[in-house]
Amino acid sequence: MSDFKIKFRGVRGSYPVANRNFMEYGGNTACVEVNVGGHLIILDAGTGLIELGNELMTKYIESGTTITERTPVNATILLSHIHQDHILGIPFFKPMHLASTKINLFGGVAQDEKLETEISKLLFTKTFPLDLGDIAAELKIKDLNETNYIILKHGQEPVVTRVYDFLSKQHDENDVIISCYKSFAHPQNGVYIYKITYKGKSLVYATDKESYSGGDKKLIKFARNCNLLIHDSQYTTEDYLSLYTPKQGFGHSTFEMALEAQKQTNAEKLVFFHFDPAYNDDKLEEISKIYSSENAIMAKENLEIDIL
Ligand SMILES: [Zn+2]
Ligand SMILES: [Zn+2]
Repeated sequence: MSDFKIKFRGVRGSYPVANRNFMEYGGNTACVEVNVGGHLIILDAGTGLIELGNELMTKYIESGTTITERTPVNATILLSHIHQDHILGIPFFKPMHLASTKINLFGGVAQDEKLETEISKLLFTKTFPLDLGDIAAELKIKDLNETNYIILKHGQEPVVTRVYDFLSKQHDENDVIISCYKSFAHPQNGVYIYKITYKGKSLVYATDKESYSGGDKKLIKFARNCNLLIHDSQYTTEDYLSLYTPKQGFGHSTFEMALEAQKQTNAEKLVFFHFDPAYNDDKLEEISKIYSSENAIMAKENLEIDIL
């Protein structure tokens, strides 16, 4: 059985869609559940986070008959950035409202800002019945920078270290290592691209990024030989280059750019991700016929992949 499991919870970009013609691929926005080495890591907290929260809540209740017997929810959430489609699930994540839950939330904002302040402003205070300070869970919100590594050890709080300290130390083979870099290929404050490594296998999450002519050199280095690359694929090339409504500069890639990134990084498997909310199931099926293969597949809500 794999100890590195991925489940897609929301695969849409921009905004959620609730329409029967979109249900095969799913209407929720970006959220990917990763269960690795006994840790729960959640990549982005779009509306896909809500159903994951409901399931975790059910599991928590079934884990014991009294509060002291139950197994608390313990999660590490990594935000690529704070655009709405990547954070909207946070206030509605049910385990957040349990005192036993522990959540470490990481991400980055503009240099003179703090992630905690921005999350509070965008999702709580005036836009939700509770203030961030009223959340029952033990929630720690931490700003990252790209020299940081996050190390997850069994039964311990995540340790954030800097690159030199990280490289100078020996690591346990059971550690889960998270590294990141900042990409400026997305409007406003850019995005964090994450890599999760466990026992020599790795997953790279690269959403909300537009590719460059000749490829993204930073990504090529960062994601080289990864086992799974989840890459932004918001547009068809036709829509990207449209004469009347071109999408160039919007900070998103095409399916072809994602394939190019797979080729350049030598990623074993590619998952096309973050679909335009205007693309219904028929459209995505059409796209899939053109671009999908055994090693390059379309994300779908509830799709599960094991990294073996
Ligand atoms: Zn997005
Ligand atoms: Zn965005």
